[in-house]
Amino acid sequence: MEDLQDVVIIGAGPVGLSLACALADAGFSVTVVERQPRAALANPAPDGRDIALTHRSAGILHCLGLWQRFPAEEIATVREARVLDGESPLFLRFDAHGSGHAALGHLVGNHVVRKAAFEAAAARASVTLLDGVRVERVQPLGEVAEVRLAGGRALRARLVVAADSRMSETRRQVGIGAELRDFGRDVIVCRLQHDAPSDGIAYECFGYDRTLAVLPLNQRLVSSVVTAKSDQAAALMRLPAREYATLVRDQFGARLGDMRPAGERHAYPLLAVYAHRFAAHRFALAGDAAVGMHPVTAHGFNLGLYGVDSLARVLIAARDAHEDIGSLEVLSRYEADHRRATRSLYLGTNALVGLFTDDRAPARAARAAVLAIAERLPPLKAAITRRLTGALVQHTRKRATL
Ligand SMILES: Cc1cc2nc3c(=O)[nH]c(=O)nc-3n(C[C@H](O)[C@H](O)[C@H](O)COP(=O)(O)OP(=O)(O)OC[C@H]3O[C@@H](n4cnc5c(N)ncnc54)[C@H](O)[C@@H]3O)c2cc1C
Repeated sequence: MEDLQDVVIIGAGPVGLSLACALADAGFSVTVVERQPRAALANPAPDGRDIALTHRSAGILHCLGLWQRFPAEEIATVREARVLDGESPLFLRFDAHGSGHAALGHLVGNHVVRKAAFEAAAARASVTLLDGVRVERVQPLGEVAEVRLAGGRALRARLVVAADSRMSETRRQVGIGAELRDFGRDVIVCRLQHDAPSDGIAYECFGYDRTLAVLPLNQRLVSSVVTAKSDQAAALMRLPAREYATLVRDQFGARLGDMRPAGERHAYPLLAVYAHRFAAHRFALAGDAAVGMHPVTAHGFNLGLYGVDSLARVLIAARDAHEDIGSLEVLSRYEADHRRATRSLYLGTNALVGLFTDDRAPARAARAAVLAIAERLPPLKAAITRRLTGALVQHTRKRATL
């Protein structure tokens, strides 16, 4: 049996590694267990995702030393966002005006985030990474929890945090259920080169068959995000690359001129997941394992980072008050805080997806009404903008740790 750790984190994804950094900086000993080999973590392959980051997330990443590791040319600025409904000339427009920021947020490739997170965690002496090994079982044993690895090795910790993806095996194994919504659709992400300048404008185009997001990157590149029913998505994945780029260009009304392939296509099934609980005795959930968002509002990783901030604050306060960091009483504070930060956005995102992908006449009328009303209601737009930038959460809560 190995030395007792303060915290064992399962999953060296961007959330697990960010949490490891935050806890190590607060003086906790941390072991991260990851089934992928170290080489894949150190040099993650591009996976097509470009992650929209709020200002609050940028602040957290900065405090953890990840932001500084992003190459400047990999950070793109989003100045404005427009929501379009089918062929309608109406659109809803958001910008940073009045928010106190020069831009709505930033976009960074997921592989860039993952690489920076790995390097930042590897640079901390109190973080131990066990790579290339799967966690098989987590068991609370009173004062400690035992984490059993494939191959028979066992770790002991005062707290185990599972950040092992939205289909978390550990969540299931410890008996925590989850709401799961399968949208029956896949999202295809792919970088495209274009001719006309994007001016930092992000577009969300709700078509009736497919939705399309076009996110501005640097050097006349955009990240295209196509959502289609799973059978149609499979056919789209089979199209020759040039034909696919032309199809995106046409759906986008050639607003940025011609489009050409600039990266591989990657497809992801659209599943939203919300765990029934985020905490149990000696156990907590973080990242997608707690809340797996539909990507349309671009908040999955952002909410994961807010959870890192919240959990770190709760654990530091508990330690300083000589409380047991693995007790359900302590972890329930994190659960309550993270639920407050995520629940309405999770439900709102799912409702928005339902409204904007429903092809029936009443839904079409409701969509047009929503866009018209929201465009004419500055307070509503300001509230949505605060959500987009992360300012809502940032301004209403005190940040004690990060
Ligand atoms: C197309 C797309 C676009 C997105 N765009 C945005 C965006 O714009 N903004 C945003 O905020 N979010 C976005 N997201 C969401 C974001 O990518 C996720 O929220 C984020 O990657 C979750 O990180 P994580 O660390 O929780 O989980 P993951 O990245 O899933 O990492 C989990 C890790 O756990 C490991 N693991 C799993 N099981 C075990 C086990 N038993 N033992 C050991 N290791 C294990 C896995 O190998 C993996 O490394 C997007 C998602 C998609 C699919």
